[in-house]
Amino acid sequence: MPNKLITLASHSSLQIVHGAKMEGLSTSLVVERRRLNFYKRYSNLVDEFYIVNEFKEGSKLLNSLGDEYILIPHGSLIEYLGVGEVMNLRIKIFGNRKLIEIESNQYDKMNFLKNAGIMIPQIFNNYTKIDKTVIVKLSGAKGGKGYFIAKNEEEVRKGLKKAIDLGLIKNTKEAIVQEYVFGVPMYFHYFYSPYYDRVELTGIDIRYETNVDGLKRIPDALDKPLPSFVVVGNIPVIARESLLPKIIEMGESLNKEAIRRTGKPITGPYCIETIIKDDGQIVAFEFSGRIVAGTNLYINGSPYTWLEWGEQMSVGRRIAKEIKLLGNDLVHYLD
Ligand code: AMP
Repeated sequence: MPNKLITLASHSSLQIVHGAKMEGLSTSLVVERRRLNFYKRYSNLVDEFYIVNEFKEGSKLLNSLGDEYILIPHGSLIEYLGVGEVMNLRIKIFGNRKLIEIESNQYDKMNFLKNAGIMIPQIFNNYTKIDKTVIVKLSGAKGGKGYFIAKNEEEVRKGLKKAIDLGLIKNTKEAIVQEYVFGVPMYFHYFYSPYYDRVELTGIDIRYETNVDGLKRIPDALDKPLPSFVVVGNIPVIARESLLPKIIEMGESLNKEAIRRTGKPITGPYCIETIIKDDGQIVAFEFSGRIVAGTNLYINGSPYTWLEWGEQMSVGRRIAKEIKLLGNDLVHYLD
C-alpha cells in the first residue's frame, strides 16, 4: 500500500511534510543541493532527503522509486519539470493529472471554467474588437512576470512586440488578451474528498503582487507607473458569510466538470482564482488543479477548516488524512 509522501522541496513542501508527519505518514523531499542547508532545518519533518543538483534531474529519480511512494504535485513541480515530463512520470500522484495539462493551456483553462458554468472575463482573439481595458498575459510566465494592461489594439501590439523582443514569448499566440475585471481578488482553496464525496472550502487568500498592490501607496498627484503583477507573497482573507454558498457551489461545479471532461474527480486540493466585482459577480480568471502556495498561510488551520474539523487542519495535513481515510481504496484515486 503506498504510504510514503514525496514532493519537491519548494512551493508548499514544508506544509505538505508537516501535515504528513501530523498524520504519522513517512515523508521524503527531493532537494536541490544549493537549498539543502535551508531544508535541513526542518529535518524533524523529513524522513529522507533525495539530493539533486537541479530539479530537472527529478523525473529520473522519481521514476526510479518503488510503488510505496506517492508524489504530491505543486506549482514548482510543474514549473521545473515541465508539463510534458509531469504527464509522463511513472510515479503515482495524488490528484488528477489531466488537469495539470488543461491548466497549462491558457485557452483550454478558460474553456474548462466556462464549461463548468463559472463566469470568466471576455477574451479578445481579435484585437480590433478591444473596446475596454484588457490584461495581456504571457503563457509560461512565472508568477505573472511580463503581464501588462492595455486599453486598445495599438497598446496591445506595442506591448507584445516588447515582450517578444525581451524573449518573454516567441510569438503573439503565446499571449492571451482578457478583459481586465475591476474588483478585488479572492483565491478560493478547495479540497475534494473522495472518502466523504464532498468539496470542502479550506481557505481563501489574496496574492500580494508587485507593483499593483503598491500603487495605492503613491499619491494620485504623482505620475503612477503602470501596474505589473509579479507575485511575491500571500495575504489571508475571509469572505462575507453570505458569499460562501456561491463559493462552495463554484468549487463543486469545477469538480463536476473535471469528472465530465476527464472521467475522474479532482481528488485533493485545487483553487479557483477570482475577482469579485462590486455588483457581487464572481469572475474567475484561473484555476489550479493542485495545492496552491496561498494555503501556506494556514499551516495552523484556517477559519474554514476549523469549522469543519475542530482541530488544526492544514491542506498538507488534509492530504495525509484523506490518504489514511481511503485506506485500500486509495489506489483508485491515485493518478
Ligand atoms: P494569473 O497569472 O492569471 O494568476 O494572473 C496574475 C495576476 O493578474 C492575478 O493575481 C490578478 O491580480 C491579475 N489578473 C489576472 N487576470 C485578471 C483579470 N482578467 N482581471 C483583473 N486582474 C487579473
